[in-house]
Amino acid sequence: MTTVFNAASLLREDLKGLLPYQAPYYPSVLKLDANENPYPFPKEVLEEVYRATASAGFSRYPDPMAVKLRESLAGYTGVTPENIMVGNGSDELILDLMLTFGTGAKFVVASPSFVMYGIQGLIASSERLDVPRQSDFHLDVVAMRKAAAEPGVKMVIICTPNNPTGTASPQQELEAILANTGALVVVDEAYGEFGGESCVSILDRYPNLIILKTFSKAFGLAGLRVGYLLAGAPIINELLRVKQPFNLNAFSQVAARVVMENLAPFRERIGTILKERDRLFSELSAIPGVATFPTEANFILFRTDLPAAQVYQGLLERGVLVRSVDSPSLSRCLRVSVGTSRENTAFLACMREILA
Ligand code: PMP
Repeated sequence: MTTVFNAASLLREDLKGLLPYQAPYYPSVLKLDANENPYPFPKEVLEEVYRATASAGFSRYPDPMAVKLRESLAGYTGVTPENIMVGNGSDELILDLMLTFGTGAKFVVASPSFVMYGIQGLIASSERLDVPRQSDFHLDVVAMRKAAAEPGVKMVIICTPNNPTGTASPQQELEAILANTGALVVVDEAYGEFGGESCVSILDRYPNLIILKTFSKAFGLAGLRVGYLLAGAPIINELLRVKQPFNLNAFSQVAARVVMENLAPFRERIGTILKERDRLFSELSAIPGVATFPTEANFILFRTDLPAAQVYQGLLERGVLVRSVDSPSLSRCLRVSVGTSRENTAFLACMREILA
């Protein structure tokens, strides 16, 4: 007898609606879709990474606790290594949070926001409660507090500056939520190096606060997948239950440490990105048929008079890749990352053509 095998019939019922994450890959376009650092990695830092990794040896498993990197991060953030956990990108840490606290429970998101919260929540079987942001994309603090108090809610996620809107939440608003809930409050500061107030200074006052950060944006290491979170030791001790033992590879641990020891060129690049962001913002806003939203991050959300798909396709045909974030709450909206001066100029020229 032959047994019929059907993988789809074995799939978890609750994953049937989940599509694999799509990251379009085009080798020769201007890549303004993923909010990466557009500048080449500083040559002198790269040489230092190669020198440091040459002696590291890759035949052994990496340090599971990334002790040296956490020490460097302690120096950068001002918190102790016990309050730091590193991940294979902050995407992995979001999944760890969901698996540790979210499975079978609910989490609240100030929406619209980063899509991975929803995806990781689904993978971990955690139910998402969306609390719409206000029309200017600032938090609805009252609604957030109310949602956080609902039965079964264990986690609240707030991204600041928020992807994809660029909105930064004042610390005061975050504290109004933190101080009034027994749930965990995850503040995702992936874009914190570009603007907004950081919650690091209040970490020791709120035992329920978790701050997420990444090397993928300001520090130009998206390809090496390094993220970290800051939280009280009791939270980290629970997260260690689900952390993959060797989650951050040896090369990335060294590279991230070298970056932390060589901050000057990255600070310079952040300054240039912010200047370019202001130019891009004013020139994009001046194009008839385009409305921009204020941003504190290294990307700009904009709405056009044309359907988002038409603008996206028009840009792609001209060799520019952006992100369409078109959805009921962000109708006709796209997001463009701040690129180099040349890239931004090219993007603006294409936009003028498409909207003409
Ligand atoms: N948080 C936010 C808000 C993001 O936009 C991103 C990247 N798109 C991440 C987390 C994940 O970053 P990574 O996994 O590269 O550290």
